[in-house]
This record gives sequence, C-alpha cells and structure tokens, in this order.
Amino acid sequence: MLEELKKEVYEANMLLPKYGLVTFTWGNVSGIDREKGLFAIKPSGVDYDKLKPEDMVIVDLDGNVVEGNYNPSSDTATHVEIYKAFPKVGGVVHTHSSYATSWAQAGRSIPCYGTTHADYYYGDVPCLRCLTKEEIDEGYEKNTGLLIVNEFKNQGIDPEAVSAALCKNHGPFAWGKDAMDAVHGAVVLEEVAKMAYRTELINPKVAEAPQVLQDKHYYRKHGANAYYGQGNK
Ligand SMILES: [Zn+2]
Repeated sequence: MLEELKKEVYEANMLLPKYGLVTFTWGNVSGIDREKGLFAIKPSGVDYDKLKPEDMVIVDLDGNVVEGNYNPSSDTATHVEIYKAFPKVGGVVHTHSSYATSWAQAGRSIPCYGTTHADYYYGDVPCLRCLTKEEIDEGYEKNTGLLIVNEFKNQGIDPEAVSAALCKNHGPFAWGKDAMDAVHGAVVLEEVAKMAYRTELINPKVAEAPQVLQDKHYYRKHGANAYYGQGNK
C-alpha cells in the first residue's frame, strides 16, 4: 500500500547521508498521506546502504503499524504528535546533524544573524527545554513531540514560519509540506546553524540582523505578497 509515498519517503531518507546530516543509522524521515491518515517512515536501525523503498513502514496517527516487515523508527511517536498538531505538515525529519545538534546541546536557540536564516525562518529557531524525568519515563518519544507542539503554541510560534525546533541536549526536528521539503529544511537548518556558530566565533558581540531586513527577506519569499522566484510570472 501507498507505494508512491514509500518511494518518496525512501528517497528523502537517502538524502540524509548524501547531505552529510547523519552518521551510521541515525536520523529518520517520514511523509504523510493526509486523506488516508497514514504515514510512511524509515524502519529502525537499518543501514542506509541496505534500505529499500518497500522497507518503509506504514503507521497510523495512533502510532500503530499498519504495514511493514520492520519496526518503525524509534522516534515514530514524535512524528505522530507533530502530524496531529500541525495539520499543514506533510513531512517530518529528525537528525543529529552536527551544527544544529551543537546548538541543541548548548541549550541555545539559533538567532537570526543574516538573510540566509531570514529567508527560511521568521525569528529564532527555538531551543526547547529538556524533558523532565517523569516525561522521559512516561513516554519519551511521545512527550518529545508534545513538547514541540505545546511550546510552539505557548510561545505563539507559527510552525509554518519556523519549520524546525531544537530539543535541548538532543537535536533538531524539522518539517515541511512533504518528506522532500522536510529534508530540504533540515539541510538549510544545518547550514544556518553552522553560519551562526561561525558568526559568533568571528564576532562574539554580534547582534541579530535588523528586524526590517529580517522582515524583507522572510516576506519576499512567504505570504501574500511574496515575489521571490518565478511564481508570480
Ligand atoms: Zn534523536
């Protein structure tokens, strides 16, 4: 079932090693069929060079495996919560990519230091708190997902305007309109994290980019009056 989706999600997963975002079997991508309420996700612990499209596991929004020969990614319950709370999300990715994870381990949100960041994210990429012992014991992956969706709600962050979060002492989650778009976002996030790190190295007293510049770059690519690219020709 959902052969096209499985193929797309397989190809999106294979981009993680291609772009240097994963080591060994770390990292996972999923993509959802909203009409059916089912998503395809990478199986747990299978080497990327052995992975095949038919190995993708089909899961429903209660986290039940509907089809698959393998166990789904151990982070599946986090993907479920993101899909349930963010209805426009069509793909989710999790990696331990080096620079984004370094910010997460440092417990810092990534500030917007320039237009590369502003083109993709409106404001900081937030670093969320560590889970409590109770949350970890009760349901680590599910509560990771709930933390992301609840913090975005509480902090008034639009998940379309900031399509990524850093989980403290852990790493990044990113999402997009489909699995490929989510991986594109994870690559961008890693690059933005690397640039921000170097920016602070070169100038430890650096300030965020002026708000007017952030607004200009974000809104020329997003929203009703966007004019970046060829879309308005
Ligand atoms: Zn992880």
